[in-house]
Amino acid sequence: MSEMQSGVQQAWQARLDAGEFVIQRCGGCQQHVFYPRGLCPHCGADQLAFVTPAGSGTVYATTVVRRKAELGGDYNVVLVDLDEGVRLMSRVEGVAPDAVAIGLRVQARVAREQDRGLLLFDPL
Ligand SMILES: [Zn+2]
Repeated sequence: MSEMQSGVQQAWQARLDAGEFVIQRCGGCQQHVFYPRGLCPHCGADQLAFVTPAGSGTVYATTVVRRKAELGGDYNVVLVDLDEGVRLMSRVEGVAPDAVAIGLRVQARVAREQDRGLLLFDPL
């Protein structure tokens, strides 16, 4: 990972730690970008700026990770397509892990876990 790359990811995590979920938008081609990086994957421009997405999206893929109850029980891992057109990995809460279905509409939320910001989704 380049120095510029890790700096961008640290800046993104710092925003998340402050309770703010942001993605990037390219000033060259206007497309949204995630994960945070230094150069636009669409057009190569270095004009990526943080913007606040609507936070709504659709579950693209879902899986249940089995875990012993004493360790917190099963949890869900999803790929979500944000309405801005970027795909990211997260988890859906507020519903049983195996009740999360492809196509489910979800809304992003920033939670705190071990003093860090953590991006989660709730069913809409
Ligand atoms: Zn671009």
